[in-house]
Amino acid sequence: MNKKGILLVLSGPSGAGKGTVCQGLIKTSKSIHLSVSVTTRSPRPGEQHGKNYFFISEKEFIEMAEKDQLLEWAKVYDNYYGTPRQWVEEKLDKGEDVLLEIDIQGALQIKKKFPDSILVFIVPPSINELQARLIKRGTDKEDVIQKRLNCVEGELQEIPKYDYIVVNDKLEDAVNAVKSIITAEKCRPERFNLQKYLQTGGLS
Ligand code: ADP
Ligand code: 5GP
Repeated sequence: MNKKGILLVLSGPSGAGKGTVCQGLIKTSKSIHLSVSVTTRSPRPGEQHGKNYFFISEKEFIEMAEKDQLLEWAKVYDNYYGTPRQWVEEKLDKGEDVLLEIDIQGALQIKKKFPDSILVFIVPPSINELQARLIKRGTDKEDVIQKRLNCVEGELQEIPKYDYIVVNDKLEDAVNAVKSIITAEKCRPERFNLQKYLQTGGLS
């Protein structure tokens, strides 16, 4: 009997650097897989269907939700976002680790369904820096940026519901902090397959 993989969830304010940290993680850790969400939001310049998101209509989204094909879903900043169920469950069942980059509402739904999941909250070093990153990213209009900044205070209030908090100041340090969290979680006694260890006489 194989142990299930780790389900790691990253959330945080828009512009905190979740996407950038995720890319840093999957580049350097071949054993963790990033789930691609479905969304009703329009693609930003350069975004690819199936790579950044599966861009679908509201009708398709509702159909997926009704057929229970989403592990979690939420309306975030006027659009719907959700995590396809089958892909995630298959990976976890095979003992592989999965990374979700989702909002707080989704993260809390995941924690309820998967109490072993690990919730990590990514914060920027300051609100000024967050604003500067959103402007520098250049993907959202001023009113969209303002809407996202207006949500920050409320989002930060949810930090106590998370297992870990990582400040994304220097990118390399933030990626290493998340990797350390994964390493520590893998060392938990409940993740150790004692039955297999005894059956095979050890791990080597
Ligand atoms: P999120 O996914 O949280 O909305 P992004 O990953 O898109 O945020 O990052 C927002 C912007 O900030 C991007 O332009 C990205 O290049 C930049 N960024 C991310 N992390 C850092 C960092 N540690 N230092 C400086 N800029 C960063
Ligand atoms: P963006 O439009 O900037 O790509 O994402 C907006 C927000 O939606 C971010 O907070 C992001 O984490 C969240 N998000 C992306 N995919 C999902 C998902 O599958 N489920 C939920 N609940 N949130 C998501």
